[in-house]
Amino acid sequence: MLTLNTPVEKINKIGKVTAGKLKKLDIKIAQDLIEHYPFRYDDYSQICKISELRDGERASVQGTIQFIQNKRSPRKRMMITEGLISDGSDQLRVVWFNQPFIGRNLHTGDKVSLAGLAQVELYGMQMTSPEYEKIYGFGATHTQGLVPVYHTTANLTNKQLRFLIKSVISVASKIQDWLQDDIKKKYNLLDLGQAYYNIHFPKDQKNLDESRKRLGFDELFFVQLNAQVQKSEVGSQRSEKIRFFEKKTKDFVNSLPFTLTKAQKKAGWEILQDIQRDKPMARLLEGDVGSGKTVTAALAMLNAALNKKQSALLVPTEILANQHFETLCQLFKGTEVKIGLFTRTQRKINKKANNISSPLLSRGGGQGVVLLTNQTTPVPSLSKEGNEIKKAITLSKKEILELIKKGEVDIIIGTHAMIQENVEFKNLALAIIDEQHRFGVEQRKALRNKSGDRKTIPHLLSMTATPIPRSLALVVYGDLDLSIINEMPKGRQKIDTFLVPEQKRQDAYNFIKKQVADGRQVFVICPLISPSDKLGIKSVEEEYKKLDEHTFPDLKIAYLHGRMSAKEKDEIMQKFLANQIKVLVSTSVVEVGVDVPNATIMMIEGAERFGLAQLHQFRGRVGRSTHKSYCLLFTENLNANSRKRLQTLTKTNDGFKLAEADLKMRGPGEVFGTAQKGFPEFKIANLCDHELIKQTKEAAQEVVAGGIEKYPKILEKVKKGYEWLVG
Ligand code: ADP
Ligand code: MG
Repeated sequence: MLTLNTPVEKINKIGKVTAGKLKKLDIKIAQDLIEHYPFRYDDYSQICKISELRDGERASVQGTIQFIQNKRSPRKRMMITEGLISDGSDQLRVVWFNQPFIGRNLHTGDKVSLAGLAQVELYGMQMTSPEYEKIYGFGATHTQGLVPVYHTTANLTNKQLRFLIKSVISVASKIQDWLQDDIKKKYNLLDLGQAYYNIHFPKDQKNLDESRKRLGFDELFFVQLNAQVQKSEVGSQRSEKIRFFEKKTKDFVNSLPFTLTKAQKKAGWEILQDIQRDKPMARLLEGDVGSGKTVTAALAMLNAALNKKQSALLVPTEILANQHFETLCQLFKGTEVKIGLFTRTQRKINKKANNISSPLLSRGGGQGVVLLTNQTTPVPSLSKEGNEIKKAITLSKKEILELIKKGEVDIIIGTHAMIQENVEFKNLALAIIDEQHRFGVEQRKALRNKSGDRKTIPHLLSMTATPIPRSLALVVYGDLDLSIINEMPKGRQKIDTFLVPEQKRQDAYNFIKKQVADGRQVFVICPLISPSDKLGIKSVEEEYKKLDEHTFPDLKIAYLHGRMSAKEKDEIMQKFLANQIKVLVSTSVVEVGVDVPNATIMMIEGAERFGLAQLHQFRGRVGRSTHKSYCLLFTENLNANSRKRLQTLTKTNDGFKLAEADLKMRGPGEVFGTAQKGFPEFKIANLCDHELIKQTKEAAQEVVAGGIEKYPKILEKVKKGYEWLVG
């Protein structure tokens, strides 16, 4: 008997060969067939009278075969099947090429349904290679109504797929509906079996819309449920209250070399409010590149330190870790905040962190400031303002671990190493994850479990520069509260972006030379590291060589990519910061967060290979000072689609708008696909359907708040799905 779990090769009429083709589509059992949704529908809902067919229109007709024959075309060795169909109103000529089986399959007197493009030809109205099917008692599947069109694979036609799906669809009614009646009633949803049937064989548009709504609801609801479950798990735990030091926070804000934007203040305030409670904060700080998220987060770190509690700032790359270390040392120079850096290769502390009487750091039992370590060579300071960095001290791993464990460092900035290596905190009360899309759920969890006292978990702040519309954020980050910085600091100049045609390349190089002569610096981004990676695509090593030897022989130029050691990368970055390197050729390692205010040109090779959000990130590397900045996009293979995408970039500097455009043009799968670990795949749900998103969120909240165990089928599904997510 046919069930949902019947392997496809066991299904009547599916042979080994077809089963093999289905496997290529990831269809292994009957249920997979049912869940292989059409990606579009051909609308043959109007059956047309032949006399009413119009030249150049797609239509569906039904009639009786008057005449049909196969014949060989004299010149091209081709088999032609020609036929004549009549429906009483008129006659229609039909032609197929090289499909002689049609001529054998259809006979004079058969009733058929045809769908295709009608055109006036030599002998009057004609359809060339229409979809056809014989009509018996019941209606047509392939040529009438809304006909589903599926993604398919070589030698497996849509017609076959439709046929196979039709032959198993009856079991759809046996699929256990995981939604209880009250939910279906409240949100006006079809039964699941019905929805499955209608998605493949809709009677009409309304019918189709209803089933789309139901199946889309399921996808979104499932994601929202997981988020709510996670949220309620976290919510059942406790965090340390971080009291708000108003005066000292104000002093800090006043000490900054700029005034905070309104949006920064608002977001900062939301965060400070959250962390004063013992309910764990789970907040996402969203803001465009350069909108000033770091200093906003610093407000919270400052207060944690004033409460004598620790904060950890987790960042995706060593370059960025280093830079954050420098930024925070600089920002906090008027305070007593002790800051440490912990990456795989680097451990540093600021000078305040050395101002402590610790047996580890004091030699000869004195009052403190003498260093034990022999690696005290100060890091050369290359950031122009100030000398905080000069005073930073390099430690051994053992030394810094000891300091962190004793609570003698307030803020620890680190990469993955901070999670992997056994860094123990004394009292980690605040965990901040920068560029959070680079991290997975597990890493978030690992950081959460590091509080040090096992009774509490740290407050969590995630930060991202991939701005997405609020409604979408509700789906993607359903378990997080949202703060948005939607305003750039004053005085930022617009970055001019150009899509540069190849024949203007030399002009661009001349322009670069001029900018460098004026003292500025330049990034050149290439998609790959070395030429062997893929032929024909610009690679860093190749491009570096060319630019160094031919284009800019007089300029100091260097390259940077992910296969270099952290130390090498850091040295190059430091030199670039110090303006000792003028042109830096790099892969996407500079994508996130790097701050080189003197750089004014971002030149991107093979721009069509990057997503809009990513290109916007690259662009955000320039325009960070008062100098006018430019972004030059070069392409290697530009189709109409990518041209349109890149042109959006030349037209707007607003990351939110770009993200939305990117989502529309490429879909969330592409946009988040690789970057966003654990991002759910939606087959049906439309992420621009704000209403449905709202409804599913509300439904999920209700179910979880009311006790998910009251919904055994939902609970079962969430448990299963959860294992799948985590495992
Ligand atoms: P992002 O949000 O991309 O992480 P950053 O926090 O790195 O941005 O900030 C970008 C730059 O803007 C930094 O050099 C920072 O000092 C500066 N900045 C932040 N806030 C302001 C402000 N309100 N006014 C002027 N400059 C600011
Ligand atoms: Mg940042």
